[in-house]
Amino acid sequence: MSFAGPKEIIAEGDTVVLYLTPALMHTIDAVPQIRNKKNEMIEYVFQTSFGALKVRDLVGVRYGSRVQLTKGWAHVLQPNPELWTQTLPHRTQILYTPDISMILYQLEVRPGSVVIESGTGSGSLSHYFLRAIRPSGHLHTFDFHEERVAKAREEFVAHGLGDNVTVRQRDVCEQGFGDELNGVADAVFLDLPAPQLAVPYAAKALKNEGGRICSFSPCIEQSMRVCEALGKCGFIEVQNIEVLQVEDCVRTRNVPVMELDFLKTKRTETDGKDMKTPRESKKYITSTAPNTMAGHTGYLTIAELPPLFAR
Ligand code: SAH
Repeated sequence: MSFAGPKEIIAEGDTVVLYLTPALMHTIDAVPQIRNKKNEMIEYVFQTSFGALKVRDLVGVRYGSRVQLTKGWAHVLQPNPELWTQTLPHRTQILYTPDISMILYQLEVRPGSVVIESGTGSGSLSHYFLRAIRPSGHLHTFDFHEERVAKAREEFVAHGLGDNVTVRQRDVCEQGFGDELNGVADAVFLDLPAPQLAVPYAAKALKNEGGRICSFSPCIEQSMRVCEALGKCGFIEVQNIEVLQVEDCVRTRNVPVMELDFLKTKRTETDGKDMKTPRESKKYITSTAPNTMAGHTGYLTIAELPPLFAR
């Protein structure tokens, strides 16, 4: 139940983030025993690069505290969608925080929203939708892959989010989202290889008051196909966005100050030749673009379906 709300103390069964360094984190379930390859229950000892942890010892520990490992220490944190995205078991390609923040903003997702998502994949984005729509909203998430559906369902329940999400196994490009979801959604999100085929079903699923759609496409050709389908299905204000996160490198630098007094007086033959040599330097805080940065992830194609009377 560790995603459902703030908690003080780790309870047995909680999903816990073991934070070693900013680039080294693990999620573990706080259970005393696990099954080994021979299907026997054994003491759960988790190995990290700073040594081993007896997982049983986490139960009762305050979130945020430092725990001893055999060759160092780590902090135990309550998971949130951002930490989960960095540590979750990948079953597919996943979406990351920079794209997700734009998706949530563009879809105007808020507490109480009804959101439809396909494919569920590894559930990275789903956890952000769930945080944004809880406590009263609902996420309907679809994937045609049986194991991914089962695993996602199991994770949502284990994370205490089961009441706000329904996971269904279906090919949404062939079968749509089902008649039971006609006119119920505030927003639809697509992360599929052929999203244009699901666009007509998305139009059916959005509320009569209208709603928003967003589709993630790794290549521009796919996003063009989506734009075309959106236009045919009555969507308006179609936009294509690419999110690129640029980290500014902020440094204090010594910048030479030029001696410019010679500009004010007439230059004579006897003036020294080194007038332009910097004599003084000043410290400035500077900001420069990084030499390398995370590159292209995908395009976000966004559109609005107007209310029924205006379609
Ligand atoms: N956004 C997800 C990742 C989705 S990966 C995340 O952040 O974790 C794309 C998923 O779409 C895959 O799991 C794949 O099984 C599913 N998929 C592809 N085509 C589909 C279709 N026609 N209907 C339903 N699911 C589909």
